[in-house]
Amino acid sequence: MNPKKKSKYDVIILGAGIAGLICGTFLAKNGKKVLIIEQHNIPGGYCTSFKRKGFIFDAAVHHIGGCGKWSVVGRCLKELDININFLQLDPMDSINFPSFSVDVPAEIDDYVDLLKKRFPSESEKLSSFFKEFIGLYRATFSAERNKMLIKYQDLTYKEMLDIFFTNEQLKMVLSAQWGYIGSPPHEVSAIGMCQMLVNYLKDGAFFPVGGTQIFTDAIAQKFIDYDGQIMLSSRANNLLTEGNITKGVTTEKGETFSADIFVSNIDPRQTFFCLMEENAVDDSYLRKIETMKESVSFFLLYLGLDSKVDLKGLKRGFYHTSNNISFSDNGWFYISVPTNVDSCLAPDKKQIISVVVSLKDSYDDIEDWVAFKDKMKKYTICYLENFIPNIQDHIEVIDAATPKTLYRYTLNSKGAAYGWAVTVDQTWSNRLQHTTPFKNLFLAGHWTNPGPGICAVVSSGWRVANMVLNN
Ligand SMILES: Cc1cc2nc3c(=O)[nH]c(=O)nc-3n(C[C@H](O)[C@H](O)[C@H](O)COP(=O)(O)OP(=O)(O)OC[C@H]3O[C@@H](n4cnc5c(N)ncnc54)[C@H](O)[C@@H]3O)c2cc1C
Repeated sequence: MNPKKKSKYDVIILGAGIAGLICGTFLAKNGKKVLIIEQHNIPGGYCTSFKRKGFIFDAAVHHIGGCGKWSVVGRCLKELDININFLQLDPMDSINFPSFSVDVPAEIDDYVDLLKKRFPSESEKLSSFFKEFIGLYRATFSAERNKMLIKYQDLTYKEMLDIFFTNEQLKMVLSAQWGYIGSPPHEVSAIGMCQMLVNYLKDGAFFPVGGTQIFTDAIAQKFIDYDGQIMLSSRANNLLTEGNITKGVTTEKGETFSADIFVSNIDPRQTFFCLMEENAVDDSYLRKIETMKESVSFFLLYLGLDSKVDLKGLKRGFYHTSNNISFSDNGWFYISVPTNVDSCLAPDKKQIISVVVSLKDSYDDIEDWVAFKDKMKKYTICYLENFIPNIQDHIEVIDAATPKTLYRYTLNSKGAAYGWAVTVDQTWSNRLQHTTPFKNLFLAGHWTNPGPGICAVVSSGWRVANMVLNN
């Protein structure tokens, strides 16, 4: 990845997250001279892996939706001639509450049948709900403001569920995976939840063999094969503008590059408040960004365990700590055993447990991050002891990440996992658009449309590439 640097490019992309990489690869494939500038020493943003004592840990992303050949990621990879070996997760997930649990099958029809058997009095309503939900999902792919989108654009997911169901336990089951989008059912937009959930239920959840870095590296390699240039360990420091035109970018190391078009795959707060001169940006646009709220962040625990502990029975999925999903005391753990899916992630039949933990503490209230990390490690291991009482005796590697860690590696404000929170007022037409007040500056990634998650940011990067090519 040693580029022969030019001073002028057709397109410069800030950030080698998945949206930046996909956008860059489409542009490079179409003959554009593209430079991607990335602050970290590896590409991928949240879609990266790290190695400790032979264990390969995925830093954040656990699985990717829509990798089948007819779905968004699958089609995109085919267009770019990228081959990645995926394993489809089956069951897709498991949902666990203190009083009951449900395994979510890999096929959506099997899931609907399972729910109908479990909630026979809601059988007809389940058919109408899933018909509507899938219709809404399809509508999100249309360029026009379809009537389905208009119907649901102002509703939270809870409000949508209340239209169809009265059974509280069924509503809990259908809401239990909200952690994948970051806002609880009474806050998350119905459209946002639909995009995420139907994508996983209908188009499948997939794991790239070898870990998520394999997925990222395959895209980055294709970008390079198409003559794209990527500068790692290079932080963009300034965006130079004249009127409503972006002229150039300077890096922390003092290099300056110019281009006809710029794409920002980084946090818009950084793009417009930190990288640009004061007064360079339209005031009303800045005010809009200022009032928007970022999504949640998480605590993550990564454990490398010996081969003796039996983890076959530990189900991958959400473990809610309360039976009431709507209340703020509902915390959850997302537990996975990646070595149950791909044993090559650990040496000598050893195993990995990875846990994502929802947080009540707000970023700005945490003063001592070292103490916070320590407290959260103990809390999470204590929870795992419910399933593996002697887990402490089997740990060979332990690492952890706090919102501060997530910020450090990606510069997403407060370690936001999903860009802006996916609330009604920040989704769909209310999210930041790809275009900006600058004629030649576009936004791609989870801070813009269609939203967070790898499948969505693949779509975002692809869309922006098409906008640039048609510009
Ligand atoms: C804990 C966690 C678990 C998740 N699990 C999943 C999952 O299982 N499945 C899923 O689909 N999604 C998951 N997500 C969400 C998903 O990871 C993100 O929505 C997605 O990866 C965002 O991609 P992106 O391209 O928008 O940007 P990012 O991944 O945020 O990448 C932005 C890039 O820009 C770089 N950058 C920032 N500032 C600068 C600068 N000034 N100069 C140069 N470079 C810069 C960063 O270093 C980074 O590489 C998870 C997120 C988290 C945090």
